[in-house]
Amino acid sequence: MVKVIVRERPVVGIALVDTETVEKARSIHDTYPTASAAFGRVVTGALLLSSFLEEGQKVMVQVICEGPVKEIVAEADWAGRVRGYIKRPHIHLELKDGKLDVGRAVGKGTLYVVKDLGLKEPYIGSVPLQTGEIGYDLAYYLAASEQINAAVSLGVYVEKDNSVRASGGFLIHVLPEMDEGTVEYLERRVKASRPVTSMILEGLGPEEILKEVLDLPFDVAEEKKVSYHCPCSRERVLDAIASLGEKDIRELLEKGKTISVSCHFCNRRYRIRRDELISIVGGKG
Ligand SMILES: [Zn+2]
Repeated sequence: MVKVIVRERPVVGIALVDTETVEKARSIHDTYPTASAAFGRVVTGALLLSSFLEEGQKVMVQVICEGPVKEIVAEADWAGRVRGYIKRPHIHLELKDGKLDVGRAVGKGTLYVVKDLGLKEPYIGSVPLQTGEIGYDLAYYLAASEQINAAVSLGVYVEKDNSVRASGGFLIHVLPEMDEGTVEYLERRVKASRPVTSMILEGLGPEEILKEVLDLPFDVAEEKKVSYHCPCSRERVLDAIASLGEKDIRELLEKGKTISVSCHFCNRRYRIRRDELISIVGGKG
């Protein structure tokens, strides 16, 4: 992922190629092609938004929708680490104009953005989904909730064997002091740009994508590696169980010797032993 600042004009561009990250998300969640595209776009969108964060902060993008995928979540942190979840991974719909029909897989609904900025309360913003195509929805969110004027383009290309061959996106952030001429110029450039997946399939990196889209001289301000990473641990699972309360934990103890908990972001399985449950409730079981 790179962030660039255009010379002599108040424009910031961010672009990202996250094919490996989205392929990992696909294989963990076993998504079918239309779901892979929708999921990948939310993952990529969360990573693009994470470029606005400072050290220690994270951002979550959540889509709750009427379309068959029902819910998609992606959480990205300041360091470019992302994890995600999709409620209905086995969705594949008929192609629309030869493309994966993300708009139909998502449909109507709400886009939530939750930012953990290290303050007491997280910041939560939401907008109704405009197209369900995710890129435009994120741009709409930025304009409506954060007064950020931006164009967002996201794309995921799925191979015949269902693997993700290309994934990425860009965000062109136009600062408020921008003159009309530059705004029009950028709108024209973004509108006329090829799908980001064709650039990635041709081997373009994030900097080259911005070069092609902006066609303006710029300086690279930041470069970051991105990865699929879930910070779950046995300790956190035990904390979550502890928060259930004593009555529920005693019920679990009555049911059997061990319980098994799967992390819904990475599918890691934690087998919690009876003695661990007993130590949480602090008794003899
Ligand atoms: Zn996990």
